[in-house]
Amino acid sequence: MALQGNQDLSSVYYIHPSDANVTQFVSAKFNGVGFHNWKRSMILTLSTKNKLGFVDRTIAKPEITAAEFKYWERCNNQVISWLLVNLDESIAKSVLFYQTAEEIWQDLADRYGYTSMAQIYSFEQQLLEINQGTDSVSDFFTKIKTLWDGLNDANPLPYCTCELCTCNLSQRLVQRQQEHRVLQFMMKLSEQFALVRGNVLMMQLLPSIAQTYRLFAQDERHKEISAASTTLQLLFLIATTPLALKTSNLLVMVPNNLTVDRFNRSGVYGHINIGGVMQHTLPSSSSMQPTAPFSNPIQATYPDQAPPMVP
Ligand SMILES: [Zn+2]
Repeated sequence: MALQGNQDLSSVYYIHPSDANVTQFVSAKFNGVGFHNWKRSMILTLSTKNKLGFVDRTIAKPEITAAEFKYWERCNNQVISWLLVNLDESIAKSVLFYQTAEEIWQDLADRYGYTSMAQIYSFEQQLLEINQGTDSVSDFFTKIKTLWDGLNDANPLPYCTCELCTCNLSQRLVQRQQEHRVLQFMMKLSEQFALVRGNVLMMQLLPSIAQTYRLFAQDERHKEISAASTTLQLLFLIATTPLALKTSNLLVMVPNNLTVDRFNRSGVYGHINIGGVMQHTLPSSSSMQPTAPFSNPIQATYPDQAPPMVP
């Protein structure tokens, strides 16, 4: 005996018992912002549940007298429940009285699915102007990624909708977009990363965006660590130099990004200005004028004495 339409696992009218629960498919209910991302998530989920046809018009509504009408109606109502639970309250209310899931789907697409050229223009403009500036790699990445995500939503990539796709067009488009973004990200980073950028550009295949971010974040971390260790060595040199006790002024150039706190050894106070010049004085003497700072980043000078021996 043949299975009834709603008991055949391959039938579009089959509803798995666990699907009867009305659950939220997307991380955030659609509230009027980010329609394309929401729609894509819903399409994926409806497709895995074999119910996409109830919104994209590929499953026609049977005649009311047809045997499968009640199966169709049950599925239609199930899909409506899924749609409603994934919409925020005010939007859900606005589509509550449609009779079919397809009508709700179409209404949402008409209201929110258009591509706003003004929005795309704004994102493109911001992407053109954004630069790392004084941001850390992590902060800058967050900013540029927010713009990419906004652009994705305003102007999503097309994707292949053919059944049993073998052309891989969607993957190739995503790949092309990722490469473009890796280049864009590197272009906007500051010049201190020129070396890593050169290394990445020498690769035969560009790394993914996440890998690229990691490479630059690691390089930044490495630079911070070596800068900090240079500063510590410098402080050690000064603090352990007996001559420092006799010298009233000492000027040392340090890289601008170093921050050095006051240090104290045998009553000697040192202080480094963030501006790049370190001044180190004895509290009791202020008669001597500081010398001009040196351009060599880690060179110390003692104005009126021979350079001290490092212990
Ligand atoms: Zn295809």
